[in-house]
Amino acid sequence: MTFEPTLDPVAGAAAAPEARRHVLDPASGLAAWLGQRGQPAWRAGAIRRWLHGRRAQSFADMTDLPRGLRSELDADFRIWTTTVAVHQRADDGTEKLLLALADGQRIECVLLREEDGDRRTVCISSQVGCAMGCVFCASGIDGVVRNLTTGEIVEQLLRLALLLPGDERLSHIVVMGMGEPLANLDRLLPALAEAQDPEGLGISQRRITISTVGLPQAIDRLGAANPGYHLAVSLHAADDDLRTRLVPVNKATGLADVMAAADRYWETSGRRLTFEYVLLGGVNDSREQAERLARLLGGRAALVNVIPYNAVSGMPWKEPTTAAREQFLDVLRAAGVNVQVRRRKGARIDAACGQLRRLAAKF
Ligand code: SAH
Repeated sequence: MTFEPTLDPVAGAAAAPEARRHVLDPASGLAAWLGQRGQPAWRAGAIRRWLHGRRAQSFADMTDLPRGLRSELDADFRIWTTTVAVHQRADDGTEKLLLALADGQRIECVLLREEDGDRRTVCISSQVGCAMGCVFCASGIDGVVRNLTTGEIVEQLLRLALLLPGDERLSHIVVMGMGEPLANLDRLLPALAEAQDPEGLGISQRRITISTVGLPQAIDRLGAANPGYHLAVSLHAADDDLRTRLVPVNKATGLADVMAAADRYWETSGRRLTFEYVLLGGVNDSREQAERLARLLGGRAALVNVIPYNAVSGMPWKEPTTAAREQFLDVLRAAGVNVQVRRRKGARIDAACGQLRRLAAKF
């Protein structure tokens, strides 16, 4: 596996104070702004179509808008609030962007390509850092800095779409980057709604997965707001003692409440749930733990996504051995649990969530 980091010279430049509104934010007020200038309301849709569907990178690209309007738009709105600080490509086609936000914070997002087939999945971040404190995860090492705005979430999608040739489209979204998406639902949901616009990215909600550490009340909120998304719940342990050690927020939520909320979401959505289980060598990968997980899930229409741990430098956790991983999978399969192992795409660059941000702090 090789990768080539590309540094964007703009990233380090001093940022000028920026008063322009972010046009990628659905609450930017674009429609009202156009109205004040006597422009027809449909122009807001046309501009969004240029940005989301036709991959315009500047207002100047929007060649069917009156020239004067394009420069007025440019004066009051900006399209990009981020710069690409690092762009990595792995030889399996995976590309990872480290984006510098307007306030200098950094987030990661990834484009994953299927070897065969048209699947083009993007993995996006929902927060700068993370407050959940999962002990093995790089994203939470320094806690949470802030929520991403809706516009910053949309911008990740568009930046990644721009990496595709013109005849390819993004097909799936996974909210599995940095942060806890259900802790930032108010900004995430409008961004995911934008992604579904048939004249924009046109990604149906069935192809959007939200991965959560398991916050019962927020799962209920999501179910009430929109149960159409695919929900993935990060378990990592099938008993409260171990789960609280690995996923500290479990002390407050407890496993039983997480499972009950997941069940309610399943009842409302009718969609199969996914449970994620990061295998940490010698910690949660024993035969007994696999049996306990099978008992916990017993009877549920669920898929278990087993993720071999990606080592994070400076952390004591190890990947499971092949034998331990196979045993774990065998026990689950023998108990009739649907299980899949997450393939390691772009293993070198896709290392652990939040890792690139830390490694690249020097750029
Ligand atoms: N906050 C959300 C999204 C996190 S990232 C959640 O907890 O689900 C998606 C998955 O990657 C989570 O299951 C997370 O626990 C896992 N993960 C984090 N660090 C990892 C690492 N170093 N190796 C493998 N998986 C990791």
